[in-house]
Amino acid sequence: MGSRSVDVAIIGGGLMGCFSAYHLRQRGRSVAIIEKGKAGAAASGVNFGNLRLQGRHPAEFPLSLRAHALWEDLSRSTGEDCGFVPCGHVYLAFADDDLPKIERAARDAQGAGLGVEVVGGPEARRRWPVLSDVVKGASWSRRDAIADAAVASQAVVRLAMRAGAQMLDRTTVVAVEPTASGFAITTDTGVMVTCGQVVNAAGAWAGELAQKFGEPIPMFAAGPPLFTVLPEHGYAGPSLHAVDGTLLLRQGNDREAVVGFFPRVRADLATGLTHVPMERVERGLVRLAEVAPGLGRLQQGRVWSGVEGYLPDMLPVIGWSGSTPGLLHAFGFSGHGYQLAPGVGAVVADLLVDGTTATPLDAFTIQRFAGDVIPDEKLWSEFDPELVAKFRKMQASASNA
Ligand SMILES: Cc1cc2nc3c(=O)[nH]c(=O)nc-3n(C[C@H](O)[C@H](O)[C@H](O)COP(=O)(O)OP(=O)(O)OC[C@H]3O[C@@H](n4cnc5c(N)ncnc54)[C@H](O)[C@@H]3O)c2cc1C
Repeated sequence: MGSRSVDVAIIGGGLMGCFSAYHLRQRGRSVAIIEKGKAGAAASGVNFGNLRLQGRHPAEFPLSLRAHALWEDLSRSTGEDCGFVPCGHVYLAFADDDLPKIERAARDAQGAGLGVEVVGGPEARRRWPVLSDVVKGASWSRRDAIADAAVASQAVVRLAMRAGAQMLDRTTVVAVEPTASGFAITTDTGVMVTCGQVVNAAGAWAGELAQKFGEPIPMFAAGPPLFTVLPEHGYAGPSLHAVDGTLLLRQGNDREAVVGFFPRVRADLATGLTHVPMERVERGLVRLAEVAPGLGRLQQGRVWSGVEGYLPDMLPVIGWSGSTPGLLHAFGFSGHGYQLAPGVGAVVADLLVDGTTATPLDAFTIQRFAGDVIPDEKLWSEFDPELVAKFRKMQASASNA
């Protein structure tokens, strides 16, 4: 019970919430993070760990580059080993049809000033001998990196708290009411938080809050299946990523490697659970053996996925609410928010403190979903054939409210 009064309340203690809190504290704002579970333990703590620069939508590069500079400095700023490995990232093409995709990714990244190189299949196998001749071409982005999600997310939680952010964990936000001076937030533990500004950083759950403020969002919850393998021959190369989505591989801890693949599995927002069918893992293992026979015999380890919010255009929402002054959204990272997170924290602080940011955010406005959104029915029906109808119903009830 009791009450707290702060300049900014952040709903969600994932990386977006914690980096926002850290940057706001650096700018002198008092901050409370309200987290329904354990901070840093949702998508932010279980993801694949790719800090991928190439393959971004061109609108994301300024934010992504700002974020990357902060990742590169994270061990210094946290004073902890954040599991950051600057190993580079390689897109792999297995078919002639995939070659234009890697060429486009390379061109976009080069346009953003990154050193990305396209090589043919034989050269890819010479550089990364673990690969087989199913690889027809590759694009190699040297500045990309990986960081162990479980390690880095807890280091960032501690960073925010050391900077002076108040952490209310195991505390669920149940209502947010605008008041004359800002907001009053009701939680399930009885603690009431009053504040001038609110950040909606509630990850895959953020759509519920946006909808309460009359901003229905076509978001669905899912995650890519992941598993670890203990290969006969250890893997210490770059992060490998099939451009057709059938395989991701990165080096892990203690001679393990981490494997991921698509399509994603659905996540249940009520329970926070995902289920990865074993036949999907078996298919992933077969694919891994075909693409990277140099790993030798493979012993499969842990299997998991996570709960991430996906938007139909695969771009996040970052910016002011269209309906409620003082409310800022930062959610819907569509499977690639881990890399962006430090930059998101920095732009959230810019917007809340200065009212503006030098990092372009126009492509991420929530207003793009107002009016007659035409959902990507193919992408959505992969998860839920009813989703389009559900979103239409949400839109109708928000416009009647
Ligand atoms: C399996 C998987 C693999 C991924 N791989 C990569 C990758 O390799 N590279 C990459 O860049 N990205 C990756 N991502 C995406 C990345 O993990 C996310 O984009 C990022 O972590 C989102 O951070 P967040 O803070 O918005 O969300 P989260 O980490 O989910 O945090 C949101 C928090 O809000 C809390 N919350 C929700 N509702 C409430 C409420 N009402 N009251 C209080 N608290 C609330 C939740 O408990 C949660 O802790 C992956 C995601 C998954 C699931």
